[in-house]
This record gives sequence, C-alpha cells and structure tokens, in this order.
Amino acid sequence: MLYGTASDLAQQVLRTDVAGMPLEWIDYREAVRLYHSEQVAYACGTRLYTVFGGHCALTGKRSMIDVSSIIATRGTSQGLAFVRDRYVPPLNNRTLFKRDANLCLYCAMRFPTRDLTRDHITPLSQGGRDVWNNVATACRRCNNHKGGRTPEQAAMQLIAIPFTPTYAEYIYLKGRRVLADQMKYLLAHIPRSSPLHARLSDHLSEGVEVLDDGANMQGICNT
Ligand SMILES: [Zn+2]
Repeated sequence: MLYGTASDLAQQVLRTDVAGMPLEWIDYREAVRLYHSEQVAYACGTRLYTVFGGHCALTGKRSMIDVSSIIATRGTSQGLAFVRDRYVPPLNNRTLFKRDANLCLYCAMRFPTRDLTRDHITPLSQGGRDVWNNVATACRRCNNHKGGRTPEQAAMQLIAIPFTPTYAEYIYLKGRRVLADQMKYLLAHIPRSSPLHARLSDHLSEGVEVLDDGANMQGICNT
C-alpha cells in the first residue's frame, strides 16, 4: 500500500552509487525494491512518500519504508566509473533541445519543443556527423533558411557552442521533474565551466523546479 498522492509517486528518485556518484533516475517501484532488498546504503534529500508493506507475523507491526528523493545504493561501481568517464550520451531531440534550453541557437528565440528541429551545423551532405558537437537546436525558419549550408556559408552565427553532455549532465537533462535538492546534488557533479552549471545555479537561486518543457515551460523559461 502506498501513502502519497499520484504526483508524489510520479516523482523520480535519483539513484547514486555508494560513493555518491549519480547513476540514474528510478521510479517508486524500483526504489521500493532496492529498499526491500537492503541495497540502499543511505538516503539523502527529502522524503518523497511512505510505502507500507505487510504485517510482521511475530510482532504484528506493519513494515514501512520512507522513500527519499536521493538514495545511495551498494554494489561495486568501478566498472561503471570507467564507463562514465568515457560516456557519450545517446543523441536525441528531447535532450538536445533541453541542452539548449529550447532556444534556437541561431535567432536566440525560445520555442516549444514541437516547433524545434535538430540542425547539423556542418550538414551531413558536407561530411558533418550526427554527434552532439555538430548539432544545434534550431527553429524551423532558421533551419530552412540555413538549408544545406554551414553557418559561414549561410552568414549565420551560433549564439552558443554545442557541447557533449557529461554523464551527470545527461542525467539532469533526462530528468522529467528535477526537485531542488536533486538539482543541487547533480550540480555538484557538473563542471563549473559547463553552461548547464550556470543555468542550474540560476534555477536554484530562484527556487525553480525544472519541469519537462512539454508539460510546463515555466522551469526553463527563466534561464
Ligand atoms: Zn531561429
């Protein structure tokens, strides 16, 4: 039995390894499974909800689990650390647009996701690759105008330098609704030089939770 509202339960939990490195978002079912199998080493952040289990035959007491917003889990993560340092996140439009804060990197205007496109800075037809460093969020108008040309050929200028997200940045970008404590936690793992560092710091100082833009543009409008 669960105690909490539907929106509480929809909140994802940030799972880290025992050393505190962020690993992934998990849902409440997976969180409860980890608590039950005693894989949770410690928890931090705020309590999201309480899950009640069965009654103990000996004591008659009912088991109860408080699920926190951030949980550190046991297990070796050496292999993962190795992978994480060399990790290149998969490229998809949802995370690309979020990397660029839903801004067209040519006209600097902000658009809803449905009006955005993936622009290949050096076009595929000119040998450009479909990789994070060669893609930019662009509105349809700018993308059409640019056509099969490079920005130089089209006399267009990018307002930001495209970058490949690190592991921690990718976790942040994938989050559907990132709570302030989770954001603060991820921020500690994002290099100061990253544009996302400044954006997250601003969100935190404004007390803004970051929601996915499809549901709500509020969170990313204030960047
Ligand atoms: Zn544009």
